[in-house]
This record gives sequence, C-alpha cells and structure tokens, in this order.
Amino acid sequence: APAETPEVVIDAHGLPYLDSRLPVRKRVADLLSRMSLEEKAGQMTQAERAGLTSQGDIATYALGSLLSGGGSTPTPNTPEAWAKMIDSFQLRAQATRFQIPLIYGVDAVHGHNNLAGATIMPHNIGIGATRDPQLAEKTGAVTASEVRATGIPWDFAPCLCVTRDERWGRSYESFGEDPALVESMETVIQGLQGRADGRDLDRGDKVLATAKHFVGDGGTGYGSSTTGSYTIDQGVTKVTRQQLEAVHLAPYQTAVDRGIGTVMPSYSSLDVLGDGQGPVKMHARADMINGVLKGRMGFDGFVISDWNAIDQLPGDYASHVGTAVNAGVDMMMVPYTYKDFSTTLIDEVKAGRVSGKRIDDAVARILTQKFKLGLFEHPYADTGGADEIGSAAHRAVARQAAAESQVLLKNANGVLPLKKSQKVYVAGSNADDLGNQTGGWTITWQGASGDHTQGTTVLQAMRRAGGDVTYSKDASAPLNGYDVGVVVVGETPYAEGVGDVGNGHSLQLSAADQAAVDKVCGAMKCAVLIVSGRPQLIGDRLGGIDALVASWLPGTEGDGVADVLYGKRPFTGQLPVTWPKSESQLRINVGDASYDPQFPYGWGLTTLTRVPEGNAVTLKALALAAAVAERAGSAQAGRDIVTKARLLVQQKVGSALTASVAAPFADADHLLLTGKYAAAVAKLTEAYRAAG
Ligand code: BGC
Repeated sequence: APAETPEVVIDAHGLPYLDSRLPVRKRVADLLSRMSLEEKAGQMTQAERAGLTSQGDIATYALGSLLSGGGSTPTPNTPEAWAKMIDSFQLRAQATRFQIPLIYGVDAVHGHNNLAGATIMPHNIGIGATRDPQLAEKTGAVTASEVRATGIPWDFAPCLCVTRDERWGRSYESFGEDPALVESMETVIQGLQGRADGRDLDRGDKVLATAKHFVGDGGTGYGSSTTGSYTIDQGVTKVTRQQLEAVHLAPYQTAVDRGIGTVMPSYSSLDVLGDGQGPVKMHARADMINGVLKGRMGFDGFVISDWNAIDQLPGDYASHVGTAVNAGVDMMMVPYTYKDFSTTLIDEVKAGRVSGKRIDDAVARILTQKFKLGLFEHPYADTGGADEIGSAAHRAVARQAAAESQVLLKNANGVLPLKKSQKVYVAGSNADDLGNQTGGWTITWQGASGDHTQGTTVLQAMRRAGGDVTYSKDASAPLNGYDVGVVVVGETPYAEGVGDVGNGHSLQLSAADQAAVDKVCGAMKCAVLIVSGRPQLIGDRLGGIDALVASWLPGTEGDGVADVLYGKRPFTGQLPVTWPKSESQLRINVGDASYDPQFPYGWGLTTLTRVPEGNAVTLKALALAAAVAERAGSAQAGRDIVTKARLLVQQKVGSALTASVAAPFADADHLLLTGKYAAAVAKLTEAYRAAG
C-alpha cells in the first residue's frame, strides 16, 4: 500500500530526466524529447478526482493533474485519508511509461480549509485589515505546512483580486480595494512557496501557489454583468487601460517578482475601453496571458484554467480548446470531459491550429514545476508534518491574525475594551456559530452554519477569557441588570455565484439581527460586532450603537476576537475596503471624486497608543519627519510617523466623520502603502483641518 511505503527509490537508468543532480532545465528538455503528443496532451489535463470514470484513466490519458474542488473530500475527512487517497492516484501515474508524477491541487484559501480539524485563518479581507505583511507570510506558512502534510503540493491561492464592488460575492477573497494593499499582502506567497527562486518547493512544508484570477476578477460590477442587472462574479470588468494597469494588473507583477508558480485566468471578461475589442473572456485573451503575463511581466510558471472555463468561450469545442491554449493557458482544469479535451487538443495540433511549439512550451512549464517540487523523487505523501495540523502553534498564528484583523470603527463612551468585572449580555446570530465565523470555502465549497470543524466561537472565547457572560441569541432573555451588551451579527456562508441580489444575500443585516441590535442597544451600552465577508449597511442605526467592530470572517480562533474585546491585545485593524452608508453609494472606492462613506478606507480606531491631544504644529513636525524617513528609505519610521498622524486625526474626529475628512483620510492610507509618507501626512493634515 502506497501510504505505508512513501519513498520510492528511483534508479535513473541512465535517463537524464530522472537524474536529480542535473539542472531542471536539462531534465525537462530530456523528458520532453521522449514524450508522445498524447502524453503531452495528458500533462495539460487536470481532472476532478470525483469526476474520474475510473482510476485507470489516470494512466490511460496520462493525466498531468487532479484536484479536489471545494468540498471534494475523502471519507473520513482526516489527514491520513487525504494522503492515502492521493497516494492511490499517484500509484496509477507511476504505472505510466515515464512515471511522470501527478500534481494534486486544492483551494486552501484560508488554511487547509477542506480538511476537518485544520487551522482556519481569517479570510483574505481580514488579513488585509491587519496591514501586517509578516503576519500574512506566517499564515501562508501554516497553510502550506498543513496542506503539504496531507500529500498535496499545490494550492489555488492567493486570490489577488482587488475588490471594487461589495456586491461581488467573492469580496472576502480579496485583501482589499487598494492594489497597494493587495501587493503588500503578497508576502503570503513566500509563506506558501518559500524563496522566490523556487528552491524551497521540495520541502515537506511548502506548496506551489496560484495567483488568481487573472485579471480584473474584482472589477466586475453592477450593470456590467452579462446575465442580468446584478453583480455576478463572472461578469465584465470595464476599465480604461490606465485603470487596468494601476488597479488590477499591478499585483500580478509583484506576484511574478515573488516567484509565483502558477496563475489562473478569471472567468470574467475584460473590456478595455478604447481597445476596440469589446468584452472578451479572459481565457481567450492572448494579449493579456501571452502578451502581458508571460511576455512583459516575465512569468515563467504555468497557467491553469479555471474550472471548465473554456466552455464559456464562443464557438465549438475545438475552438474552445484551440483558443485557450493559443491564448497561453497551459493546463485545463476540469475540461468537460477530460477525454474529449485531450483528443480534441491532439486533433487541433494535427490540423495545425495549435503548434507543436506551443504544446512543448506548455508541457515544459508544467514539468518544470513538478521537478522543482521534487515530485519525481518523492511522488508520495510525506506526512511528517501531519502532527502539526491544527496544533497549538498553528492556531496561535490564526489567533493573532483574528485579533489583528478586528477593525474598531466606533468606540463611544469607552465601551471597549470590556472589563472582566463587567456583566456582559451577548446576543446575535454570529456570536456562537463557528460555521458563520469561518464563512465559505470551509469544509465544503459554500461553507455551512454550525459546528463543522474544530475551533472556538466568539462566545466560547469570551467565556474562556474569563468574562462574566450571559448569552441569548435572539435577545429574548431579560435585558435588565447588565453593564454592557455585545451583539454579534452578520452574514451566513456563501462562495462565488451571485453577489447581493436575488440569492438570499444582501448587504443589509437580517431582520433577526436588526431586532437583536435594537433590543440590546436600546437597553444598555453596547458593542456590535459584524462577522461578515464585506461591509454591512448600518446607516442611521449607527447613532444608537456605542461601539462597532468589523470582525470579517475571523476563522476558527474566536479567541483572537476575545483578545481585543477584553483588551489583552489592542485593536489595530484598518478597513481594507470603504464602508458605505447606503446601497446607493456602491461601488465606492478610495480615490473616488465624491467620497462620503460611513467609514473611509483605512479607518480603524486603535486602543494601542495614546497620542496626546495634538494640533497642526505637531502634524507639521510629523510632516518633516516623514520627509526625512522617505528620503532615508526607512519604511518602519515612515509607517510609525503616519500612524501617529492618523491617531491625531482620529482623536479629533471622534465619530464626526464628514466627506471632507474621509477623502483625504483614505488617500493617506493608500499613500502610506506606496511609501509616500510625507504626502500621507499632508493628506492627514488636510483631514485634521477639515475636522474643524
Ligand atoms: C473557482 C476557483 C477555484 C476552482 C477550483 C472555481 O469555481 O473560481 O477559484 O480555484 O473553482 O475549485
């Protein structure tokens, strides 16, 4: 049984491609020269493991890859079962002529999220709120080690989407609306893959990463979808060339520089205003995949399609295949069917519509990553790190991330942090629901409410922190006698699909949540926590709420939330997206001409540093210091100075935010991320003055 014999000793038999002492380039060239067209087409095919007609097809079609789509888990859903399942597939691949190992992939988008008992991180939107690149890297490292320990060398993450419209159902997969913020969080790629040159990929705790979805997935928007009047995640991104470059493409250059191994095109279409093409599906855009990504940006990994995305291209099946491969897609994820795909591809080559050179390029790119991952030497699962799955050390990283992701939007009457001596009344649909706290892409594709894995809810964590807590989900228990209320409300899990309209989802709190907020906040001082993948519309209700926290989807470690609630750690999170006042403001983003949100991009009160009441003179001093830091190239000093200036503004503003404060405030955070400290302080000075 392969699980018990994880090591194979490979005798190179004089075959250069099996000789691990040779450079990867030479091994690839040697193997490629021996392969038939059928074998090459097989390498370019990825099937879903549950969609295999028979396991024998792995060898019959010389398949290059398999995946588990969201929630396609073995039974039982344990590390051992994952490793055993993948080894059994690998055994089939080892029975092929050249023993080319399969590369198995999953969507581990916030920890090894398909596996029960794994450490689940906050979703990316929360990671963006931390503004902490070192932490983002650590979350990537934990994810990689848990994934690889179950025999999986490839992770379809991170999503580099720059979300520009909260109605988009994948907003929570984004680090935020500002490309500079997304770029700063791409340290996660090092966490997943290790060093940029790929030297760490054969380690038992690293995986190949995927930057997705190239490009403009976060830019699809209301009114520009192909199928209706609502935002869908496979719609059209309509942008100028300049917006395309600055907002959506910029994070990909960073990913290429960080050595990203694979890139996945987006299901969406791109409509670049003025280029005369109109909306064209990304899987057909040779100008973007071949031209920009592989050409101009110098991406040398391979391009994996999205799930059966080629069927969305115009024309017959042969043209789907030809168009995508010629556009630069190297491997097809779940083409319908994998048999048709490889035979059609072979026909396209024979008919001269796809060149042999293009095929060789695609296969060379795929094989290069397989060699780098060490799969030829170690095709079977190395479960050495399995003991660490869900370990205390890993959960500590997730807990830190959960804590740092909490954004304190309002804090009147000193409600937060709570004191352990206080009697606390806890209510709301998301106070005690691990499934809602982890969101979509958790155990199953869509996620689910309830206890579907191991972790701690916010309520459990508050109790564990020593809080004197009474819980009544719908706030039906008597409300008298408490010092403070904590109402945890928000969304239930979802993934992909329709954004806000027509699918039971909206940016409004549910009637039950609204009632719980009104009841508790009407009876006592209260803090409202919103556990959600995107901003929820609070509107006028804000006046009746003392403290408001954007908790995002914090993952399995509710303790991180309790840490900031009880003041064990300070609130330091900042908004990764603009928080709108109303539906009519969507789509609102930092840098918009008229910008009057409920809370600006970058907002987030902190309980960290008490800056003495300042004035414009102090800001002047900070401006000078910022200029010095900028010239010296000192990022740490620059960040500290801007943070101080931000605190001065926040202290003055309190909760009296106006458009003339919000706009320069949001701009400042963007400038900070791009290293323009002096300009950031200048913007904050503007905000300070505007605050009256
Ligand atoms: C999603 C991708 C994902 C793939 C595989 C698709 O529906 O768009 O992000 O990687 O499924 O699960």
